[in-house]
Amino acid sequence: PLVSGKPMAPEEEESVFSLRPGSFSDYVGQRETVETLQIAIEAAKKREEPIEHVLFHGPPGLGKTTLAHIIANEMGGELTITSGPALEKGGDLVGLLTNLQQGDILFIDEIHRIPKAVEEFLYPAMEDFSIDIVFDKGVHARSHRFRLNRFILIGATTRIGLLSAPLRDRFGMFRTLDFYDTEDLIRIARRSAALLNTPLTPEGARALALRSRGTPRILNRLLKRVRDYADVRADGVLTDEVVEKALALEGVDCLGLTNLDRAFLKTIIDYYRGGPVGIEAIAATLQEETDTLVDVVEPYLLKIGFLARTSSGRKVSQDASRHLGYAVQGRLF
Ligand code: ADP
Repeated sequence: PLVSGKPMAPEEEESVFSLRPGSFSDYVGQRETVETLQIAIEAAKKREEPIEHVLFHGPPGLGKTTLAHIIANEMGGELTITSGPALEKGGDLVGLLTNLQQGDILFIDEIHRIPKAVEEFLYPAMEDFSIDIVFDKGVHARSHRFRLNRFILIGATTRIGLLSAPLRDRFGMFRTLDFYDTEDLIRIARRSAALLNTPLTPEGARALALRSRGTPRILNRLLKRVRDYADVRADGVLTDEVVEKALALEGVDCLGLTNLDRAFLKTIIDYYRGGPVGIEAIAATLQEETDTLVDVVEPYLLKIGFLARTSSGRKVSQDASRHLGYAVQGRLF
């Protein structure tokens, strides 16, 4: 794929080339989403036309970019990858759009972060496969319509609420990806370990799956850390004991919570008596970006019932409090 915008982190790049599934048969889980896409692709192929634009929503690391790669492979189109923040000016987007051939795929990650002025070029591009370019200003302003080749836009967002309605409505398909269950994560662990030529016991696979916060990207990252540990401190085999010891060193606990997850929960308990408290106040106390907390930390804590979002703010649950070793107080839900 052609990657435009920010360079990828080295670790990300490595997992892209070695562990990222290239076809639906290697893509574990998310069965309804996969089936919807397979039907759309088969129908489009029969009609010899591109599929409709697709919008994926869900926390980072659940396989949105991977699906864009698979769709491109299946449709036989070239994939161009960019992101909302990388498209600073209308010209950035127009440049990408005018280079697309019939059936090519444009993937825009973090599409909720596209500047408003750039987003307006997307409307006619998505709907009529054309762009309106305005020459001159004021009374001399003339607009000229350029035809584009029929392309497929795939958008990904962690925050559907921040997407404008006109943009959202222009996608023909919308799928939310959910966290993976333990059995699916075990399958991904086995597949990745095999690709990395690393022996992994069934108990080791389960221990790793339980500590991956329901997220394939985290699982692959932890797998590599455990493999290093096993090679240096053990006999190279990833058993449950090796997984536990290696991940304890990484600050990952038996539920997969990280230092940041625990600091987040402890802040609410220690400084705000368990909540409710606004996210901005938590971010200020923790000295963390609000976006990181909302996109990365909160979704999984909400999922496992350690956190609740109420109209008056965030609240920590009794289960969370117990997990962190606090004597449970009356105020917690
Ligand atoms: P997102 O775009 O949602 O942030 P990615 O598609 O980049 O997530 O996925 C991160 C990594 O996790 C991929 O490189 C891939 O190795 C792995 N992965 C994601 N989804 C799956 C899946 N369904 N099956 C196997 N591996 C997956």
